[in-house]
Amino acid sequence: MTQQQKTYDVAVLGLGAMGSATLYQLAKRGIDAIGFDQFTPPHTHGSTHGETRVTRCAIGEGHQYVPLAIRSHEIWKELAAETGEQLLFEVGGLMIESATSQGDVHGSKHFLDTTISAAKKFSIPHEVLKGAQIRNRFPAFNVNDQDFAYFEPGAGYLKVEECVEQQLRRAAELGAKMLQNTKIISIKHHTNHVELITNDKNFLAKKLVVCAGAWVKELLGAPYATKLSTTRQVLHWYPIAAGAKDKWHDHPVFIWIHGDGEGYYGLPSLADPTLLKVANANYGQTTHPDKVERQVSTSEQREMFATHVKGRLVGIEPTAQKSVTCIYTVTSDSDFIIDWHPKHKNTFVVSACSGHGFKHSAAIGEAVAQQIINATSNIDLSAFKLSRLSD
Ligand SMILES: Cc1cc2nc3c(=O)[nH]c(=O)nc-3n(C[C@H](O)[C@H](O)[C@H](O)COP(=O)(O)OP(=O)(O)OC[C@H]3O[C@@H](n4cnc5c(N)ncnc54)[C@H](O)[C@@H]3O)c2cc1C
Repeated sequence: MTQQQKTYDVAVLGLGAMGSATLYQLAKRGIDAIGFDQFTPPHTHGSTHGETRVTRCAIGEGHQYVPLAIRSHEIWKELAAETGEQLLFEVGGLMIESATSQGDVHGSKHFLDTTISAAKKFSIPHEVLKGAQIRNRFPAFNVNDQDFAYFEPGAGYLKVEECVEQQLRRAAELGAKMLQNTKIISIKHHTNHVELITNDKNFLAKKLVVCAGAWVKELLGAPYATKLSTTRQVLHWYPIAAGAKDKWHDHPVFIWIHGDGEGYYGLPSLADPTLLKVANANYGQTTHPDKVERQVSTSEQREMFATHVKGRLVGIEPTAQKSVTCIYTVTSDSDFIIDWHPKHKNTFVVSACSGHGFKHSAAIGEAVAQQIINATSNIDLSAFKLSRLSD
């Protein structure tokens, strides 16, 4: 007699930011889940590496994101209590807009106004500061008198690799099966289940959650292939001059919009506190996740310094000590796709990047688990439906 092949309740394809959160939340609810990744997460091939991610609760990309950010902060703290690992560091977040700026951040044309209105609507503690007030409080930021800023004391950063690692660890402890270094090369959609095919095996699950990040396009094809693009992004670490150490002591994370389409952001460096991590928030050149140019040239490092850092950040030295490439997966309106597949009723797709997904990932994982189990979620995901995007 041949043994019948096991059918899992849910398969999670991709175990980066979104997949690790989803697998953890499914396992927490007693679901018989299996997760797959082509690499060993956390890894440096996708969108989830480079030490840290900015998190903030008043979301300038749109009020629809605020419940996700607030709930994610709760989950990061719950996870820290469960694991003993602090993941969220509420060092404060300073969002600066130069008086002459027409710039946007992640597709939001009115980033600071939307941030402030979100803070008011959701009662998020904050302050609005002007030129000299900003320089007095935060002397590392050489703002002009006409510039203004939003400061959120509960904003800060997340340890990005640690978040993935801890959620995967908890998922495994709660009974989830995990196959790393296992690439899914194709998916067959049947009436009541899905079949995931690797080079040497196939796996069955009643439901599938695709969290494949930059690989969603080629894995799922239409309609995602034309609705998503993948871009090359670069993170840089610049030295803090010895004489400016005091100014950078315990500094907040920041986003600074200072020109037409020019915005950048910065965070502390974890591995070496004598450095500052900075990056351009604009979408980079389109690329393929398997072919992205990983080498960062000295001219890219110089351009980053000249365009953004020079004259604005006090005591930052011009020669980057290291730089790392990463990938954004971007929609045409910079909002996420978190929705069922339009043709395959057992498949749910999470594409939550456009440069701002990580801070929401813990709550997205929870909401997706609730959708899979109950066909509804505590947080409304209707703003993230695929159908809003035309070809
Ligand atoms: C430079 C940079 C800076 C950012 N800064 C911020 C920030 O400050 N704040 C913020 O909130 N967000 C930020 N983001 C966005 C955030 O990091 C992303 O939204 C998030 O990491 C996306 O996670 P993901 O799970 O979709 O993708 P990934 O974490 O890349 O996960 C996808 C996974 O799927 C796996 N996979 C793909 N195809 C297959 C297959 N066929 N078989 C098996 N496995 C597969 C991959 O190996 C990968 O592990 C930033 C992103 C970048 C790149």
